[in-house]
Amino acid sequence: MTLLEGCIGVEDLVLLEPLEQESLIKNLQLRYEKGEIYTYIGNVLVSVNPYQQLPIYGPEFIAKYCDYTFYELKPHIYALANVAYQSLRDQDQDQCILITGESGAGKTEASKLVMTYVAAVCGEGERVNSVKEQLLQSNPVLEAFGNAKTIRNNNSSRFGKYMDVEFDFKGSPLGGVITNYLLEKSRVVKHLEGERNFHIFYQLLAGADPQLLKALKLERDTNGYAYLNPGASRVNGMDDTANFKALQSAMTVIGFSKEEIRQVLEVVALVLKLGNVELADEFQANGVPASGIRDGKAELERALCSRTMETAKEKVVTALNVVQAQYARDALAKNVYSRLFNWLVNRINESIKVGTGEKRKVMGVLDIYGFEILEDNSFEQFVINYCNEKLQQVFIEITLKEEQEEYKREGIPWVKVDYFDNGIICNLIEHNQRGILAMLDEECLRPGMVSDSTFLAKLNQVFSKHDHYESKVTQNAQHQYDHSMGLSCFRICHYAGKVTYNVNSFIDKNNDLLFRDLSQAMWKAQHPLLRSLFPEGDPKQASLKRPPTAGVQFKGSVAILMKNLYSKRPNYIRCIKPNEHQQRGEFSSELVAIQARYLGLLENVRVRRAGYAYRQAYGSFLERYRLLSRSTWLRWDGGDREGVEKVLGELSVSSEEVAFGKTKIFIRSPKTLFYLEDQRRLRI
Ligand code: ADP
Ligand code: MG
Repeated sequence: MTLLEGCIGVEDLVLLEPLEQESLIKNLQLRYEKGEIYTYIGNVLVSVNPYQQLPIYGPEFIAKYCDYTFYELKPHIYALANVAYQSLRDQDQDQCILITGESGAGKTEASKLVMTYVAAVCGEGERVNSVKEQLLQSNPVLEAFGNAKTIRNNNSSRFGKYMDVEFDFKGSPLGGVITNYLLEKSRVVKHLEGERNFHIFYQLLAGADPQLLKALKLERDTNGYAYLNPGASRVNGMDDTANFKALQSAMTVIGFSKEEIRQVLEVVALVLKLGNVELADEFQANGVPASGIRDGKAELERALCSRTMETAKEKVVTALNVVQAQYARDALAKNVYSRLFNWLVNRINESIKVGTGEKRKVMGVLDIYGFEILEDNSFEQFVINYCNEKLQQVFIEITLKEEQEEYKREGIPWVKVDYFDNGIICNLIEHNQRGILAMLDEECLRPGMVSDSTFLAKLNQVFSKHDHYESKVTQNAQHQYDHSMGLSCFRICHYAGKVTYNVNSFIDKNNDLLFRDLSQAMWKAQHPLLRSLFPEGDPKQASLKRPPTAGVQFKGSVAILMKNLYSKRPNYIRCIKPNEHQQRGEFSSELVAIQARYLGLLENVRVRRAGYAYRQAYGSFLERYRLLSRSTWLRWDGGDREGVEKVLGELSVSSEEVAFGKTKIFIRSPKTLFYLEDQRRLRI
């Protein structure tokens, strides 16, 4: 194999000449047009979505990649999965695979390819196979409930996912744990034209047999449901009926009982029917506007159309008007659905969890939404971008600092690379007292007249001098005017670019409160699953303690994730979407350039190139290449380092290319490594 085949660009961007944004994009394009969707930056894999089935996957390719080392074959996701798995198995190093990129870039497909690869090479046997089956089958279940057709991606994951797969000392899988992040629950009640609600609704309506439909009191026609957009019920190439079957069988494999599946579907049906609850204007005897349900059930009507305020001394019941009642209904639907989703994840975890005891090795796979800049950015984008800011920090800290530290340890001179440390932005958001999230919480808990605008006023006051914070007010103070920013907005200069957030509904979304009347109504519903989703509805649960805010919860789970990632060896997959039309063969340089910036690719190459692409302990290096030198190939009684010097000396590898550290040999470019591999292959 040659690395520098002019016509298809370089396989490792470390070898790019000249190194700049434009040549980087051009290189990706050249390769993409030749069907080469994978490119390395050292050990980071860049993947451009092909939007077509390429003949580069499956058992034959798995077998091939499993037999070679990282740089020996063309760049491939299997090569990355192989390195990760082998270092886990042979070197006892816990691994994580971080997959980032924007919606539609191919993250979820990449995570599935990694999983199938690992499943194929990690041993066999009845027990092992059944564990594998359960782990793999968690996917169709989570996709049915957590994915939807959006304008950007027909099968878009609307939640973030981190999955730890645990292995025994031999490298056979034992089980795993799934963590989910921030399901986009607003989709349950509202989604853009041309988009769909979560797949499960359509799967159920299309796939349920007439008996089941009747039992659930549903009609097959999706147009009958207010929560399902009319006109977008089918997705090209997606068979809802078949997927419903696949879902049921996946749930069975994982260990859901018939009764559990039944109850899950009943809750799904309940959400659909909630959407159809028609709320009508009514007036109270005193003429005050109220609301009611047309042919409604008493308990639900009471809960949806009125609000009980409890103080220490008394209970006050007030009537809600139609708009308020609709709001309550939608809040309930979103809550039921997102709690069902969490319940499903927990239920799956119960089945795949590994008993405590023996020491385990862990491989984590993170498939999470990339940096987002939409036209209108709200609380959701804010927390997503915060998460990406943290991931960038992990990347910076682990990759760059460890690299530098290793050079230091090994006594090798380091060409200092300046990089942007985004700690200051993370702090702006997450600082315990003076971070935006903390201030949002403070505003949510403060008694009195709080609103999104009082929250914004606070931010403006506290951060008026912060380098990474802007708003109309702080701009005015500096006599700058930017008409693109509204009065209800603030802007953060993220590592990937500036994002303007509108504060409207920040308070509401962060509070994420469900009125007690509603949880009580759900708890009283005499439905075991529904009841378990609303434990706080139990009247005996006297505690009126406030649940943690959405921001606190998210920050907490990000912190756990970071801790988890810091304890493992990271493997990066950077996914890129070549065009906005889900179209094969089309490559928009502009679109790719934006993503390259969000992913920090150029920075990544610069750091890699300043240092050495490859390093290996003298002993193992010599073991592999000793046959290349006359002095060492038969036997070698000297030290490992001297042996390596002999090998490289005889092959006349330039001294620029290598550096001798205290315990390891460092090789600057992969080219040299290829050369060594070629030589080795010629002799065996
Ligand atoms: P993301 O999770 O980043 O939003 P997905 O992984 O769902 O994106 O990919 C979107 C679509 O792109 C997939 O449904 C599939 O059609 C296509 N796709 C992604 N990766 C590949 C691949 N390696 N080979 C073929 N098609 C792919
Ligand atoms: Mg996805």
